[in-house]
Formats: sequence, structure tokens, C-alpha cells
Amino acid sequence: MCQHQPPCPSADSADRESARLVAHHPEQGWSLLCNGVVFFEDTGELLPDGRVIAPQRPRDASLTTA
Ligand SMILES: [Zn+2]
Repeated sequence: MCQHQPPCPSADSADRESARLVAHHPEQGWSLLCNGVVFFEDTGELLPDGRVIAPQRPRDASLTTA
């Protein structure tokens, strides 16, 4: 899959987000990385094996209630 030198970090790597972009769709809020990870604008991720990584936004100290 990856033909870069040095090769991109695998999807299982903690460093997966530093893989190269192969598709970037800012208007849709997502990017596809070389290792097959889909990286969303809100920092969420979809791994090639179907796992979902929840967004890691900094938590607001004051939780708002509707
Ligand atoms: Zn690569």
C-alpha cells in the first residue's frame, strides 16, 4: 500500500496521524491518510479495520445543559 520512503506509520501506530495525506476534502471535513485512516476535522478517526476513534477535543470545564 504505502510506497513512501520512509514508509508512513501504520494504522495501528500511535503515530498514525503523521502518515501522508492521499485525499483531502476540507469542504467535507475529512482526510484520507496513506495508511488507510480517515481523519475527521473534529479529530475523530476511522481506522481501516472499522474501529472508530472518538474526537479528542479539549473538554469544556463548564458543561452546558440544554
Ligand atoms: Zn505512505
